[in-house]
Amino acid sequence: MATARLSIDLDAIAANWRRLDSMSAPGTQTGAVVKADAYGCGAGPVAAALARAGARRFFVALAEEAITVRDALGPGPQINVLSGHMPGDARLIRDLDLTPMLNSIEQIMRHAEGLPGHPFGIQLDTGMNRLGLEMSEWEAVAPMVLELGPELIMSHLCCADEPDHPMNDEQLGAFHAMTDGCGVPRSLSATGGILLGERFHFDLTRPGIGLHGARPFAAGLPALRLSLPVIQLREVAEGEIVGYGGTWQAEGPTLVATLSAGYADGLFRALSGQATLWAGDVPCPLIGRVSMDLITVDVSHLESVPDTLDILGPHQRVDDLADIAGTIGYEVMTALGPRYLRTYSGQGA
Ligand SMILES: *Cc1c(COP(=O)(O)O)cnc(C)c1O
Repeated sequence: MATARLSIDLDAIAANWRRLDSMSAPGTQTGAVVKADAYGCGAGPVAAALARAGARRFFVALAEEAITVRDALGPGPQINVLSGHMPGDARLIRDLDLTPMLNSIEQIMRHAEGLPGHPFGIQLDTGMNRLGLEMSEWEAVAPMVLELGPELIMSHLCCADEPDHPMNDEQLGAFHAMTDGCGVPRSLSATGGILLGERFHFDLTRPGIGLHGARPFAAGLPALRLSLPVIQLREVAEGEIVGYGGTWQAEGPTLVATLSAGYADGLFRALSGQATLWAGDVPCPLIGRVSMDLITVDVSHLESVPDTLDILGPHQRVDDLADIAGTIGYEVMTALGPRYLRTYSGQGA
C-alpha cells in the first residue's frame, strides 16, 4: 500500500486540553474548536476523545461540519456554529441541536423567523472587522436579543499571539463595554487569549490549535506523526539530476528514496529541497522539488532504509514544517490531505 499514514495521539490532544483547562481562571469552562476536521486530525475521533476528557462545548465553522461531530458526541454536548445561521441551515441546526453564533441582524432575523425558540448565541465584533455585530448594531438590538435569551456572547481577538499588541486590551475593553451586566455567559479567547491571562478568559474559552501542541501553545504535546512509504530506491551517479526542473544534481553517487506523498497531500511545494525526513532519529534531506504525489530523499548514509520515513514527528513538529514552508502551523495542519490513512492511539482509539 502506497498510502501514507498519519498517526494521531488522542492522549496527547486530551492532555493538551487538560493543560489549557488548568491554566484557565477558576470557574471558566474550556471548550474545544474542532472546525476544519479538527485541524486535519479527524473531527469525530478528536471530539470524542475531548468529550471523554471533559469538554462539553464544541465549535465548528460550518453547520455541515457538525454532522460528524454530533455523530461522535451523541446528544448533550453543545455544538456552536461560528458562521452563524446561513440560508438553508435551519434543518441541520434543528435536527442536530446546534447553537448558531449569530453574526448580523440579518442572521438574527433569519433565526428568529426560521427556528423560533431554538437556542442561539451572539458574536460581536470588537475590532477585528471580520465576523459579528458592531457596537452600534448591538446597541440597537441588544434589548430585543437579550430578551430572547442567548446562550453565549462571544468575540474573537485578532492579535492574541502577540501578547504586547495594543489590540488585545483594546478588544478587551470593547468587549466589556458591549457586554458588562448582560447576564449571559461570555467568551473572548482562543488559544492565544488563554495564554494572555485570566482577564481574557470570561466564562468559556475556545482553544483549537493549542489542543495540538502548536504555537502559540508550543509547550503542548505534539500529537502527530506522518510516515511516508518508500516506493522505490535508486542509485544516482554523480552529475545526474533528480525531480522536476532538475533542481538537484548529485555531487557523488547517491541513494535516492522516492516517497509516496506530495503537495496534493499538503506537503507544500515550498518544502522543496528544504525539509528533512527522519529514519527514526537519523535525518535525511528532502532533495529536489516536491511533486504532486511524491518526494525524493537522500538516504545514502542509512545503513538500511526503513519501509517508511517520517516528515512529522518528535524531530520535526508542525511548527518546524511551517517555518520551513514560510507559513503557520494552522495551515500545515489543515492542509493535511484526505489521502492519508488516519490512525488513532490513546483513549478510545
Ligand atoms: C478558529 C477559531 C478559534 C480557535 O482558535 P485557535 O487559535 O486555533 O485556538 C476560536 N474562535 C474562533 C472564532 C475561531 O475562528
